[in-house]
Amino acid sequence: MISMLRQVVSCAAPAYSLVCKVNRKKDSETKSKDQRSKTQILMPHTITLIPGDGIGPEVAANVVRIIEAAGADVSWETHYAGAQALEKFGSTLPQELLDSIKRNGVALKGPVTTPVGKGFTSVNVGLRQALDLYANLRPVRALPNVPCRYPELNLVVVRENTEDLYSGIEHVVVPGVVESLKIITEKASTRVSRFAFEFARREGRKKITAIHKANIMKMSDGLFLECFYKVAKDYPEIAADDKIVDNACMQLVMRPEQFDVMLMENLYGDILSDLCAGLIGGLGLVPGANIGEQGAVFEAVHGSAPDIAGQGIANPTALLQSGIQMLRYLGQREPADKIENAMLAVYEEGKIRTRDLGGTAKTSEFADAIIVKLNV
Ligand code: NAD
Repeated sequence: MISMLRQVVSCAAPAYSLVCKVNRKKDSETKSKDQRSKTQILMPHTITLIPGDGIGPEVAANVVRIIEAAGADVSWETHYAGAQALEKFGSTLPQELLDSIKRNGVALKGPVTTPVGKGFTSVNVGLRQALDLYANLRPVRALPNVPCRYPELNLVVVRENTEDLYSGIEHVVVPGVVESLKIITEKASTRVSRFAFEFARREGRKKITAIHKANIMKMSDGLFLECFYKVAKDYPEIAADDKIVDNACMQLVMRPEQFDVMLMENLYGDILSDLCAGLIGGLGLVPGANIGEQGAVFEAVHGSAPDIAGQGIANPTALLQSGIQMLRYLGQREPADKIENAMLAVYEEGKIRTRDLGGTAKTSEFADAIIVKLNV
């Protein structure tokens, strides 16, 4: 079980890695632990850390603690975004933050709150657009002993991250009539499709299903689908099919095992990611990576969870798994494997769990338990 899970977290390493494009699974399976530690050279790396809002600082602090306890060779540059940054720097997405990520190439990010129906535009969307982090990779797989609907589920959501209805172009046509523009381009649809196929090829995934509503949005979703099938021709060993999004939701709930990699536009990807998280035990678990040509921002699927913020009870697993992806992206496989094994061991034991999974442990107690296992 543990090695299967390791495979899924490692599969979150990007198709366009900054570090290496070798098959990580084969590599780690064929080398013994001793061989690995002798051959692996740890490169120190500065990481931009965005603690975020709500439960963000609580989970981020504990994830940083675990990463440091595992001996990862990293240092942190902390930056603020959203309402906190607006207060301090007069901008929700300060230039210093963007410069830091551009310089470091990697960020670990907590969730940032976006006001509903008013106020500033989404910092999360703004960040992905500003850095052109065009592919959002979200592996969805249950952890040992976690009660959930589909303990065997093993799929990956690849979401286009830069356009669609998230283009942020909205205006009042006349009072009482608002127009919101859905932008779909051949360029973005093609590159995210290629990203998905490259990822599937490298990870030995068998099938990619494009999710769309091209029966209604014949031009926009039609273009996305056309680009998908055009790219698919270059990957004959990977099956390519598609499903209309409403049917896909029902199929996910009834027979999710039919999906392997799911590729979709921005909005469908946002919604279906949460749906998938619900199938394996909730938002506290699912990690993610926003990948572009020049860097990557690792963050959980979940948001700032205002309903539980400040209580120290959030599950740090989703951000921790994002951190594991990040370490692998940086080539720091040894600390990544160590953390993952420790996390899986805590879940296997099933004694210490956060409240979202039916336990009573605080965020910090759960992190402590992982740290204890790091050296076992
Ligand atoms: P949410 O993901 O914050 O919370 C949904 C539910 O899941 C809540 O009941 C919450 O308590 C629970 N939950 C989420 N993460 C958890 C964790 N780690 N441990 C235990 N329980 C967890 O979604 P929401 O309430 O719709 O959004 C809140 C805010 O977060 C909004 O402002 C939204 O815009 C923002 N958001 C940010 C991001 C991001 O930064 N990438 C993503 C999604 C939502």
